[in-house]
Amino acid sequence: MTGDVDGSLARQLAAPFVGAGPWRCQEVGDGNLNIVYRVTGAERSVIVKHAPPYLRVVGDTWPLTQDRIRIEAQALQLHGELAPGRGPTLLGVDLEHAAIVLEDLSDHEVWRTTLVNGRRVDGIAEQIGRYCARTLLGTSDLVMDPTRRKMLSGQFLNPELCSITEELVFTAPYVDAESNRYDDAAAELAAALRADLPMRRAAARLLWEFRTRREALLHGDLHTGSIMVADGDARVIDPEFAFFGPMAYDTGNVVANLAFAAVRHQELGSAFADFVTNCVHQFWSALTDEVKRMWPVSQPWNHIFLADLLKDTGRYGACEMVRRIVGLAHVSDIDSLGDEARLRAQCRVVEGARSILLGPPVRTLEDLWNRMTTKESCP
Ligand code: ADP
Ligand code: MG
Repeated sequence: MTGDVDGSLARQLAAPFVGAGPWRCQEVGDGNLNIVYRVTGAERSVIVKHAPPYLRVVGDTWPLTQDRIRIEAQALQLHGELAPGRGPTLLGVDLEHAAIVLEDLSDHEVWRTTLVNGRRVDGIAEQIGRYCARTLLGTSDLVMDPTRRKMLSGQFLNPELCSITEELVFTAPYVDAESNRYDDAAAELAAALRADLPMRRAAARLLWEFRTRREALLHGDLHTGSIMVADGDARVIDPEFAFFGPMAYDTGNVVANLAFAAVRHQELGSAFADFVTNCVHQFWSALTDEVKRMWPVSQPWNHIFLADLLKDTGRYGACEMVRRIVGLAHVSDIDSLGDEARLRAQCRVVEGARSILLGPPVRTLEDLWNRMTTKESCP
């Protein structure tokens, strides 16, 4: 299917689900890794996602395992069992052609797009909080049957995609890596980061924890671009980075990406920033409520677990913040600001990360959010 430029295989895979032809096939993905088609027949449309044997954004000079589509299919299945209704329905899997067929969510929008545009969609943050609790706690040794969990952990080793994260999130931003991207105005910020030994130390320590803390089956790339939304309905897509890792990597991604939206709207002087702040509170309170429901409060260390999760959410969130400013992949929340606001936002995000990683441990959500969205130390 690598050369399926006319979508003929995508049509063939979609045919059983969409009714009679002629079948219309459009490419809809804006993704960096894969090719995403929408195929429409007489009755309905579906999505066909194909993983070519290379990293799409770079081309066939960067080979990448097609096994990622199996990981995505199995993670959708397992997460669907633990958090029903929060992902697209998986309609079909064709490993021979490295493709999956998914429910078409074209009546939904990418959450990041709505946040960037200042469009309020209600109920999403709570659902994502519950999704995180159910998938993370649900695949941890606190809740899941230990034998099943051990069998599963072998299915989700995902070494190639893990090494992308290890390189792009925890390593490249702190050294002079070729993959780093930033405009001239942010060069000073990037150089200061590379010279900041305590920050490099903190990131290296988090890399170690990322590799060794096999707490739960993560989504592995849970930013606001991996969530599609309609009023009261959040759907998590794209779990191809799934592996057993530290729970706070997922929750940190959610909170950091909400911080990008908040910083954006503060820089624009828009009251939408308050909506984003509410989202963070709703996210965390739904997550903690669900954790307590799944794992009774009578457990003697429940509150310690949640306090540690918050602290580590901050630490992993801080790494996400740094890498989206000086690393390879940026976020439109910050990049689409005008020159002056963008530079200030970039400085705020990096300073926020610094104050989390180098300051006293985070003890409350308010404290974490204030540090993530701090205006201090940036002119
Ligand atoms: P990649 O792994 O290449 O990043 P994604 O799974 O993130 O691909 O999909 C890329 C884009 O395709 C999404 O941002 C979204 O716009 C669209 N898309 C993906 N899955 C669906 C779906 N089930 N329904 C509708 N659109 C989708
Ligand atoms: Mg992807």
